[in-house]
Amino acid sequence: MIVDRGRIAAALPGYKLGAQLGVGGFGLVVAGRHRRLRRQVAIKVVPSEADDASAFVAEARLLAGLDHPHIVRVFDYLESDGLGFIVMELLDGGTLTRRQQQMGISPPQACAVGLAVAAALAHVHERGVLHRDIKAANVLFDSTGLAKVTDFGIARLFAGSGVTGTARGAGTPAYMAPEQIRGGRLGPTTDLYALGILLYQMLTGAPPFDPSLPLPQLWTQHLSVVPAPPIGTPVPLADVILRALAKDPADRQPDADAFARDLAAAAVDVYGPRWLVSTGLSLHLDEEIRRIAAPTLAVLSPSTLAVAARSDRLGQTSSWPSTYAADHKSISSPPHSTPHHDLRTVDRPASIGAGSIPAQRPRRRHVPRPPARRQIRRPQMVVPFTLVLVAAIAAILLTTKAPDRPASGGSPAPRSTPSSFRGLTLSGFSDAVSSVAFSPDGRTLAGGSGDKTVRLWDVTDRDHPAPIGKPLTGHSLYVTSVAFSPDGRTLAVGSWDRTVQLWDMNNRNHPTLLGTPLTGATDQVNSISFSPDGRTLAVGGWSRMIQLWDLADRTHPLPLGQLLAAGDHIGSVEFSPDGRTLAGGGADGILQLWDLTDRTRPTALGKPLTAELKVITALTFSSDGRTLATAGADDIAHLWDLSDRSRPTDLGKLPVDIEESSAAITFSPNGRTLASAKRTGFLYLADAVSHAVSPPLLGHMGAVTSVAFSPDRRTLASGSEDRTIRLWDVTEPARPTALG
Ligand code: ADP
Ligand code: MG
Repeated sequence: MIVDRGRIAAALPGYKLGAQLGVGGFGLVVAGRHRRLRRQVAIKVVPSEADDASAFVAEARLLAGLDHPHIVRVFDYLESDGLGFIVMELLDGGTLTRRQQQMGISPPQACAVGLAVAAALAHVHERGVLHRDIKAANVLFDSTGLAKVTDFGIARLFAGSGVTGTARGAGTPAYMAPEQIRGGRLGPTTDLYALGILLYQMLTGAPPFDPSLPLPQLWTQHLSVVPAPPIGTPVPLADVILRALAKDPADRQPDADAFARDLAAAAVDVYGPRWLVSTGLSLHLDEEIRRIAAPTLAVLSPSTLAVAARSDRLGQTSSWPSTYAADHKSISSPPHSTPHHDLRTVDRPASIGAGSIPAQRPRRRHVPRPPARRQIRRPQMVVPFTLVLVAAIAAILLTTKAPDRPASGGSPAPRSTPSSFRGLTLSGFSDAVSSVAFSPDGRTLAGGSGDKTVRLWDVTDRDHPAPIGKPLTGHSLYVTSVAFSPDGRTLAVGSWDRTVQLWDMNNRNHPTLLGTPLTGATDQVNSISFSPDGRTLAVGGWSRMIQLWDLADRTHPLPLGQLLAAGDHIGSVEFSPDGRTLAGGGADGILQLWDLTDRTRPTALGKPLTAELKVITALTFSSDGRTLATAGADDIAHLWDLSDRSRPTDLGKLPVDIEESSAAITFSPNGRTLASAKRTGFLYLADAVSHAVSPPLLGHMGAVTSVAFSPDRRTLASGSEDRTIRLWDVTEPARPTALG
């Protein structure tokens, strides 16, 4: 839609509009002046019927509740004529990006900006808010040189449960912390990582990882490559930055104040006690940090202190004359500075290793060999065959260039070596893919989507999948689940429109609707599962009820009854392979099992179990029915031993890489491999016995929502919010070691 000035002017008669200041992900930012108050403002405009409108309102609310000199101030929020407006203080000193390009930023100035951003972060973190998009473009200056953090568009409350999900992207790739990429648990240190990148980039002129790399490669760098020390940066400062860039959040400074203390001490160490004066930038710091950063404040002239008093808004202020030093060369060693020890700068990265140092040994030279028999009894030494394969895949991925572009019109992208392991892309959906399923004969793949349709592909020849017929339509909301009946003759489709539709697949080129949709006590449907004999369908969704249907006559499904779950909704249901047990998981990570040996009289098996998950979004039985894996939106993937179904035992969680925020999980048909999909779009394969986890399969550009193995185990299908399905060749290669 077009947001013209006339519409803005009509909606905000109290303001005289000025120049356009910027265009961002949400909409337009224009300058304005309040006619009566004469206050200069910036007005951020977004079409309020846009999908992002609620996020925009959230940003306005969030900002309105924050009051800090280093955070942009919000004066008002208005909605009118389909438009939303955030009226905020005008920051006419431009963005940090622009300032860097036009005037350059001296190293002490970089440190001052770092302290300003850290102060802003400490303020928001204390209030349970993460910024999640700290970068140069989101730091602006006012006319006095005060740095302000803006654009809380993707900030979320981190005290609540919605830490990992995001409506609007998850940050800016060049600045994204490993846990943000993996879709893991975010915390204050996630913002510190981005601040570390920002400082690195200010001090060296470039971020540690090349942002022009294809996304998967950039992500791989964030995930596993230790950044080269920042060239030309004195060691004490480099140390502070590199600590913030630790892969493991636990290795970073624990919070923004700790970061500020470290940074302030390093700056004094390197540039002397009067370093801040030389920057010409105003800073508002907490007392403790101010003392570290400016140990000589007491000797400042009275006029300087007057400036401080005037601009003080928190009462905890230090402020500095805003005579911007144009000559940056002169300020790097101010006359009063008494630099302490260790002014070595990082000028020879080669002394530590040429360029970037991989955190792990380069994979391509270390493709593990299949395990010797003897080793199999020592889990930590086991290198399962799957991992050999996946290591090989990773090696190839790390050496290939651009990501596959999704092919249009539902046809598969051409497949060529050496990127053949990257996964064939099936496209055509106009919204996220929510669910994927193979027919029992492995010849048909069904994908359900937020665009309310189901698409079918003939995957008889996995190298050349072909779309079948027209998309199946009829649902009025998001399709969430697809499942083939065990005889392959019926496809069940669940949707948030609270119905399940059954399609006759006898002629898969012309599926026809079977009878009327199933409706019932179940709210919006999240998950469906056929019993192995095909006679029962279980349906779970946004209510406490799991609805059971008798499908003996598929044209006349009959309600069998309902199971009442302990949590208040169901994320996933699945029948055990022997059909005797139904597992349901959902809210609060509660997992429950029911005995359905007599399906007309289901009985609860044992007590509800609690996984360490906020919510279970997916669960899967191993083919022998003895293991159950659960995955969830927030924490970890869990394995349960079901040898005694009335008393499942907790086998623990899967190790690090796989544990965070699995959106989907499935066992391979032989139960040996678990595929786990991430909110970040990464897929991992884990050995179900040793729990060893593969490097990620890269390719998806959005969260992976669903995974399915072909019955012959050769292919893994993954559906993603990037609107595509990918087919991954997981056939064991003939000569795995040759691939490295
Ligand atoms: P987005 O969420 O779209 O990235 P931002 O809040 O970052 O939006 O704003 C986009 C651009 O608009 C900024 O990069 C900046 O150039 C300009 N801008 C935003 N807020 C202000 C402001 N308060 N004063 C001046 N310019 C601003
Ligand atoms: Mg922005």
